[in-house]
Amino acid sequence: MAMHIGRTLPPAAAPLHFKDIISGWAGLFEGVITVGRFEEELKEVYGVRHCFAVSSGKAALVLILQALNELSPERDEVLIPAYTCYSVPSAIVRAGLKVRLCDLASGTLDFDFDRLEEQLENPRILCVIPTHLFGLPADAERVKRLVNHRGIFVVEDAAQAMGAEWNGKKMGTLGDVGLFSMGRGKAFSTVEGGIILTDNDLIGRAIEKRMGAIAGYGAFDCLKVILYAVALSLLIHPWVYWLPKSLPFLKLGETHFDPSFPIRRLSSFQAGVAKGWKKKIGELKEVRLKNARKIAGYGITLPAVLGAVIPGLIRYPVLLADVETKKKILRISESMGLGISGGYPDSIDGIAKLAYLSNGNSFPVAKDIAERIVALPVHPFVSDCDIQKIGPLLI
Ligand SMILES: *Cc1c(COP(=O)(O)O)cnc(C)c1O
Repeated sequence: MAMHIGRTLPPAAAPLHFKDIISGWAGLFEGVITVGRFEEELKEVYGVRHCFAVSSGKAALVLILQALNELSPERDEVLIPAYTCYSVPSAIVRAGLKVRLCDLASGTLDFDFDRLEEQLENPRILCVIPTHLFGLPADAERVKRLVNHRGIFVVEDAAQAMGAEWNGKKMGTLGDVGLFSMGRGKAFSTVEGGIILTDNDLIGRAIEKRMGAIAGYGAFDCLKVILYAVALSLLIHPWVYWLPKSLPFLKLGETHFDPSFPIRRLSSFQAGVAKGWKKKIGELKEVRLKNARKIAGYGITLPAVLGAVIPGLIRYPVLLADVETKKKILRISESMGLGISGGYPDSIDGIAKLAYLSNGNSFPVAKDIAERIVALPVHPFVSDCDIQKIGPLLI
């Protein structure tokens, strides 16, 4: 693909400022109480009794799944949307469990609930993972009503929805246990990081036990995070972003299936970076919402049955007419540096190492979505001028 030199928008960004890094340093010197304080704040804001801060959303999911499997050892399959982030099957495999897919409802990013109900008869299903992809609300409460009396848990994947609310309810608290990601390109970032929330004491205690057994960041790994934070704070700016983007070894924006990743407790540096998170998330939300409303103003609709209210998105997903249109839009975006991304490359059954998932099964809606979806940037670096270029391209 042709390289674009000059102003280039990243697809998603929760900017890290110099003062966040200073605050990270302060956290580092204050030590682990910084992490404890962050967890207490989260418990209070989300009204839950248990909260754990770890090194990534994937790590959070592994700990959750292992805890649930300990509570229901006879159940070892995890039911997820056939179109989602590759980190989700990576975490399931890492937890030693089996992936089960459910297709999506046509024109949405949420489960096809008829398909979902058929699968719930399977006594091996441990939990279902409704997912707020791009921040678009999935109906986690409907899943909960369907499954809880069957002894199946609901894990709410709010990796992309930290700070988001829908119908007055805070995402991350709608299932039996929920998770956020604080990775690069998520709603709020501490370079990398993950949060587990639950109000269920059984689940909370099972996770707490596991937390006691995992390591924190070593000095070297902590230094890597600090250097990465400094690099990110500089390179995420549109006038500089073309540079890291043009370096193929950085693999920016690529999605991989990879079950080998570290599982650590969050470092005090990262908890320090998160300081003031409520206010920062509030400000980010407001800017993104303003940009999303401007995009909606072009008549560009979301793949969802939501009514007139625009939710707290971190990117604005759009289903295009066909794969050719998608290729064309991505080519134009690339040459103009507009930050439009193609979403995940394929449905989960298309991951070569998970080929067993397609034995006798197909997920046509998820495949179709993978072919036609693009995500428009709405982060704080997106200017009115950018939206005036992006909007007309999509209609
Ligand atoms: C990013 C993401 C994860 C994993 O979070 P990491 O912090 O990147 O490990 C899980 N689920 C979804 C839907 C995500 O977007």
